[in-house]
Amino acid sequence: MNIILLGPPGAGKGTQAKRLETKYGLKQISTGDMLRAEVASGTAIGLKAKAIMESGQYVSDPVIVSMIEERIARPDCSHGFILDGFPRTEPQAEALDEMLSKRALTLNAVILLDVSEAQLLERIACRTAEDGTRRDDDDPDVVRSRLNVYHKQTAPILPYYERAQCLYRVNGMQAADAVGEAIDTILVGKGKI
Ligand code: AMP
Repeated sequence: MNIILLGPPGAGKGTQAKRLETKYGLKQISTGDMLRAEVASGTAIGLKAKAIMESGQYVSDPVIVSMIEERIARPDCSHGFILDGFPRTEPQAEALDEMLSKRALTLNAVILLDVSEAQLLERIACRTAEDGTRRDDDDPDVVRSRLNVYHKQTAPILPYYERAQCLYRVNGMQAADAVGEAIDTILVGKGKI
């Protein structure tokens, strides 16, 4: 089973992806985590991505697409994967379709976590306070810029998946467990698991 988790920054994609990974043995693929690892290791990609991420903008499509193409080919993805933070643009969504069909893989569900903007800002502020390890892009000005970029570049891919009839909306403002149950209901109800 291959799933996309969509939603603005702070919607809870990472939390739900980890839950699905534990519960169903699917592999979480977080492009944000992959990029942060590149930055931490000081690779060529990391050096380029650092400033872009700190400003809340998106890393270029070709870089992200080739990272994903290489990642889904690894053996730990053979039981299925959860894309967390990808695709984020129309070209990425199209590239994903191509790479899935090349590998004869199916996209089983695209789950959108719907959360109000006020709650997103509050959540990211809490994440910063609770984690102790503040993410550079959790600065309030950068969060606003990340939200703007989401509305401009990522929200337009929703109709793409709506047309493909694989988009499911979940109220992301509930407690994490309730969100998880709502996702399970979708996957079970649609015969996905
Ligand atoms: P995230 O942890 O998913 O919020 O990602 C953190 C940052 O990494 C984003 O604000 C972007 O700068 C970059 N990033 C992550 N995934 C993508 C993607 N699919 N396309 C472009 N940039 C991305």
